[in-house]
Amino acid sequence: MSDCLFCKIIAGDIPSNKVYEDDLCYAFNDIAPQAPVHFLVIPKAHIASVAGVNEENSAVVAHIFEVIAKLTKEKGIESYRVVSNIGEQAGQSVPHLHFHVLAGRDMTWPPG
Ligand code: AMP
Repeated sequence: MSDCLFCKIIAGDIPSNKVYEDDLCYAFNDIAPQAPVHFLVIPKAHIASVAGVNEENSAVVAHIFEVIAKLTKEKGIESYRVVSNIGEQAGQSVPHLHFHVLAGRDMTWPPG
């Protein structure tokens, strides 16, 4: 989508600190980290949020979780949180599906 911030990051039109990339997804460090490790993993195909996942596009979600497992293992991270906000009330600020990966501090839930 031409006016989507994360589509522009994937296209290289907006700079990002890349963590990983393959044909289906892109991972990059969050610009405003909420934990010592905080990166985002997004599908290259535009999906607005988890609410836009369906039979036709859901394979990329499984792929993204494989990538998250691989990246965290490579980084030696054993305990972490994966978050996806859906809708403005839940704090979604960018309408392109993204999974936050957070680690490096107390990750118990709910936050104290
Ligand atoms: P959410 O608020 O759940 O939609 O998450 C969007 C995330 O994108 C926030 O944590 C922002 O800090 C992050 N973000 C926004 N713009 C950029 C950018 N240009 N590069 C990296 N992360 C960004």
